[in-house]
Amino acid sequence: MPSIFSRIISRDIPGYIVAEDDNYLAFLDINPLAEGHTLVIPKLEVDYIFDLEDEVLAGLHVFAKKVARGIEKVVPCERIGVTVIGLEVPHAHVHLIPINGVHDMDFSQMKLSFSNEEFAEIAKKIKAAIEEG
Ligand code: 5GP
Repeated sequence: MPSIFSRIISRDIPGYIVAEDDNYLAFLDINPLAEGHTLVIPKLEVDYIFDLEDEVLAGLHVFAKKVARGIEKVVPCERIGVTVIGLEVPHAHVHLIPINGVHDMDFSQMKLSFSNEEFAEIAKKIKAAIEEG
């Protein structure tokens, strides 16, 4: 059974994709802590991030950096927080979250909800900002 994230990679289920290359994908978190909350994944389906090969793990972070630069151009924030939890979806992923303080990284707080149109609009802006470089 492919993970829910592998199903986003294969376009089996929809995702608000903001960046993609041969090895990595970035898309909006469907239950975001903040506008622009993005997940960055390797296309290779491995559950635990520290089971990734060194090269894949390093590449994931380099790819995340490019994505974070795009998010910060679109979403006003002090910086982009980076975290890995991985307790829910067994496919390694990095959370990129626009933050203004440490409380913005608190996963126990209420998640935001956006309409499909709002998610699509945020994704479009972030994608354009990443492509601009
Ligand atoms: P974690 O595994 O890091 O504890 O949490 C998984 C994250 O993936 C959560 O923030 C959750 O909102 C997000 N998530 C779970 N299912 C989906 C999905 O189908 N699509 C997207 N875009 N995000 C998801």
